[in-house]
Amino acid sequence: RGQELSPEKLSQALCLCSDVDEQLKQLVTLFQFSENERRLRDLLVTLLQEVFSEFFPGCEVLPFGSSVNSFEVHCCDLDLFLDLEHTKTFQANARKPQEEKNEDKVPLDTLSEDSILSDVDLESASTSEILELIAAVLRQCVPGVHGVQALTSARLPVVKFQHKESALQGDISINNRLAFCNTRLLQLYAEVDDRVRPLVYTLRYWAKQKELAGNPFGGGPLLNNYALTLLALFFLQTRSPPVLPAVAQLKELADEGEKAIIDGWDCSFPRDSSKVEPSCNLENLRSLLAEFFHVFADFDFVSTVISLREGLALPLTDIMASETSCMLKLGALNIQDPFELSHNVAGNVSEKIALRFQNRCRDAAKYCRSLQYQRKSNKGKTWGLVRLFQRGDNTEISTTEEGPAAGDGLVIYLPSPLLVLTEVQRRNLCGTEGMQQFCFQKVCTALQFVLQDVLKCSVSLDEDDENMANAEQAVLQEEEPCVGAKRTLAEEGTSVPDSKRPRLEAESSKEERVSWHCTICHRVWLGRRKMRRELRRSAAPNLSQDVDSLQVEAEVTEAIAQQEHGSGPAQPLLTFRVSIVSTGATSQDCRTSLYFTPLQEPVALFQDFFHFLQVFLPKTVMKYIQKHTLDSP
Ligand code: ATP
Ligand code: MG
Repeated sequence: RGQELSPEKLSQALCLCSDVDEQLKQLVTLFQFSENERRLRDLLVTLLQEVFSEFFPGCEVLPFGSSVNSFEVHCCDLDLFLDLEHTKTFQANARKPQEEKNEDKVPLDTLSEDSILSDVDLESASTSEILELIAAVLRQCVPGVHGVQALTSARLPVVKFQHKESALQGDISINNRLAFCNTRLLQLYAEVDDRVRPLVYTLRYWAKQKELAGNPFGGGPLLNNYALTLLALFFLQTRSPPVLPAVAQLKELADEGEKAIIDGWDCSFPRDSSKVEPSCNLENLRSLLAEFFHVFADFDFVSTVISLREGLALPLTDIMASETSCMLKLGALNIQDPFELSHNVAGNVSEKIALRFQNRCRDAAKYCRSLQYQRKSNKGKTWGLVRLFQRGDNTEISTTEEGPAAGDGLVIYLPSPLLVLTEVQRRNLCGTEGMQQFCFQKVCTALQFVLQDVLKCSVSLDEDDENMANAEQAVLQEEEPCVGAKRTLAEEGTSVPDSKRPRLEAESSKEERVSWHCTICHRVWLGRRKMRRELRRSAAPNLSQDVDSLQVEAEVTEAIAQQEHGSGPAQPLLTFRVSIVSTGATSQDCRTSLYFTPLQEPVALFQDFFHFLQVFLPKTVMKYIQKHTLDSP
């Protein structure tokens, strides 16, 4: 079994190199699997294949993730996809009456009487049921395996296990064909250009040292290794000339057998790297690494989406206008999956980590300009990558403070309303203060409209904020600020003084903020798509081109409410608080964070609503702003 390398050993090995390029390559040599490690994994996969085939005839055990994507490190987990497609066909056939069976294709009378499959219908069984079955097989029939656990409620449900002798951790999932496919894409990119592996290994290690990346698939606010790798690949796609082609270009090189649609997404690309023209970019590793930091130190993460498919940073407004991509959950970092275009692979990254990422890039870019980075020290001092990887003690080059923490709560980020303004409109907003207030008010007005008029929530100023505002300023004359009154909720918000802001810690003083108390009576998130389709179908066909989509959404809500409660009175279903916080003042850094807090049980129901809002709100709020700003003089 490979051992994890201690930082001291790593530093020693790196200091012996002759230049930075060699250091980057050395990192791959030090971290990649030895022959034995690879053989062990292969053996384990063969063993599992044999055992599972007994129980799930025709199944395939397919490794994906870092064990096989060319970016492995000693002791990384073993991600396995158990493909049961053929087993399902086998089972369906075995269950047909004798005369209907296709004898040529189905040798599956071999399914023994006591087969595990005689009890479970794979086609109709839930993921949890199948995973429990897999866990049972692992526990009872695979020698040398322990700690088997089915995590059925995880975002990506898996069965976890450990191989006793090697202490290797394994994860088995069953609905993960796309991950298997993106693993092959990463492999291809690594083969296309031999600068890819050293650069990705270096960035992965750097990010781990700086506590930016490394949390396992699905949890925590850090970047995961997959997202970080995509960022590195995107960087290489956007060099001039490019080091790597965009995924859309790869698609053109795929032949018939390589064309694939998985879960509705186009996953066509060539398997053979020799089909891809070598790059004419000649930058060395040292300068590519420095450039990576330089580019992302000032990258506009707020108003763009990183698209590996196009090899471009796409403006958010384009994404929102796109049929396929508009479902993308916007976050502090937006990295679109190369295949599943509605998936933001960095959607879990908190604002705090995104800021930390940019700050660390800035530090690193600065360090890369120094001689210590560029040249080997002949006085025995640390140099090159060694200093770049140093943990806490690089404070002398760490110049910037981290911004406000996003907290652990439920947050939705909205892009800057300035994005939808014309140049002239933007210029007319004189001064920073004007900009910020403008953004805040626009967002609040739009949000109020979407919550109230589109989703039929009742919205009022949150009591805490109201009291605070009252105490501080006698400006508020009205007793109960209610929606629809002369002043909007947005205007109320601006009067809350910085010094009295309670809930969000470590806030920047340059921000606008307000909290609302909201109640919703209907499950407006259930069956929206179907209802929308039905309404569209029943509308006059000549209307469909030009209908106001916000109006349609309001009608969809109305129809859902009708369906749920008829014309009778509806009871409150959920109450929650939303705190709206705008920071930044330029189109680059102006953004609004919406912090949601459920105020009653059941929280699980609120989670469903929140998941819906994550996709729905940014789109509709921006649509409102766009419509109302462009319509107004
Ligand atoms: P390591 O295990 O060393 O952290 P890894 O690449 O195996 O690296 P995992 O988190 O184990 O990362 O994920 C395994 C695979 O699952 C990835 O290689 C990728 O194919 C897929 N994957 C991981 N995270 C995501 C994500 N956020 N979106 C889509 N696919 C993902
Ligand atoms: Mg993994």
